[in-house]
Amino acid sequence: MSKITVETPLPHPTFKELAHAYEVLSDPEKREIYDQYGEDALKEGMGGGGGMHDPFDIFSSFFGGSPFGGGGSSRGRRQRRGEDVVHPLKVTLEDLYLGTTKKLSLSRNVICSKCSGKGSKSGASMKCSGCQGSGMKVTIRQLGPGMIQQMQHPCNECKGTGETINDRDRCPQCKGEKVVQEKKVLEVHVEKGMQNGQKITFPGEADEAPDTVTGDIVFVLQQKEHPKFKRKGEDLFVEHTLSLTEALCGFQFILSHLDGRQLLIKSQPGEVVKPDSYKAINDEGMPMYQRSFMKGKLYIHFNVDFPDSLTPDQVDALAKILPPKPQSQLTDMELDECEETTLHDVNIEEEMRRKQTQHQEAYDEDEDMHGGGGQRVQCAQQ
Ligand SMILES: [Zn+2]
Ligand SMILES: [Zn+2]
Repeated sequence: MSKITVETPLPHPTFKELAHAYEVLSDPEKREIYDQYGEDALKEGMGGGGGMHDPFDIFSSFFGGSPFGGGGSSRGRRQRRGEDVVHPLKVTLEDLYLGTTKKLSLSRNVICSKCSGKGSKSGASMKCSGCQGSGMKVTIRQLGPGMIQQMQHPCNECKGTGETINDRDRCPQCKGEKVVQEKKVLEVHVEKGMQNGQKITFPGEADEAPDTVTGDIVFVLQQKEHPKFKRKGEDLFVEHTLSLTEALCGFQFILSHLDGRQLLIKSQPGEVVKPDSYKAINDEGMPMYQRSFMKGKLYIHFNVDFPDSLTPDQVDALAKILPPKPQSQLTDMELDECEETTLHDVNIEEEMRRKQTQHQEAYDEDEDMHGGGGQRVQCAQQ
C-alpha cells in the first residue's frame, strides 16, 4: 500500500481516535476486553501495552470490510468478514408446537476448487494498474487555499483486491472470478417451542470469497397467523362462543389441538360461564423451548351469545325461574316528575372513532388558523 502524506487534518473521527480503534480491533486481547467490558475497561488499562500503528493502516482495515462484524475472530488481522445472509422462514404454529425439519435449497458462491480461489491457472496474479496493487484509490479534493481533503475508496478496477489476472492465465472454471456458484440443501431444524422471530444460524455457510471469513446464513422464523390459536410466550389462547343456554345450563365441546388430539372441554354441573371470562387448561399450551416436556397453559376466552329479544311468554317463564328483580317500586308521583327517554342502539367503537376523527379535524383547522390565518379571524370579529 502506498503511503500518502497529509498536511491537513481530516474531519471526524480524528486520527488519534481511529488509531485507537484500530489498535483495539487488531489486538485479539484488547478486542476481547472491548467486546466484553467496553471502551472504559480498555482505558482503565485492562489491556496490555501495544505499539501505535501507522494510522494509514486503519483505512485499509476499515475499507476492506467490517472489522466489527468479525464475531471475535482473531484469524489474521487483514482478513475481512463476509456478509451474513438473512432469510425469513415461514412456519406454522403447528411447526413450532411439534417441531419440524425444513429442507431449503440455496445457491451460494464457493471458492473455485480448480484454482483454489486464485483465479488463474498458474496461481500468479499481476498488480492492478489502477491502484498499483494497493486495492485503494485516493481522491484529492481542494477545499480552499492550502486545504485539501483526501478520500480513499476501494479500487473499482480490481474490486479492492489489488490484483488482476492475465486473460490467457484465467482459470477456465471460474473465469478468473475465484468463486463459483454451488447449490446446497440446508436442513433447518425448527425445534419445539421456538418463537416467532427466533434465529437459526448456520455459521460460515454464506458466500465464500478469497481472504474472507465466510459469513453465516441466518434463518428468522416467521410464524403464520393461526386461524384458531393465538400464542403469547408459552401460552395459547383460543376463543369460544357459548349460547346463553350453554352458559347457564352447561356445555361440552371438542377442541382439536395443534397436534391433532381431540380435547373434550366441559363445564362443571351447575356452573355458569359469564361473558368475556377466561378459563385455563394446564399443560396444554406451547412446549417450552429446549424443555419441551414442560408446557404452558391453554386459555379459553368465553363469549356468550345472548338472544336479541324475547317473546312475552319467554319473559314470563324466565321471570318465574330467575332471581327476582331488585325491589325498587317507583311511586306514581316519582314517575310524574320524570322525563321520558328513549334508548338507542349504538356501535360504541364506531362512534368513538368518528368523534376522534372530528376532534382531529377541528384541531387541524385550529392549527391552520394560527399558522398565518390569524388575521382573518380578527377581521371576521370586527
Ligand atoms: Zn486496483
Ligand atoms: Zn478458478
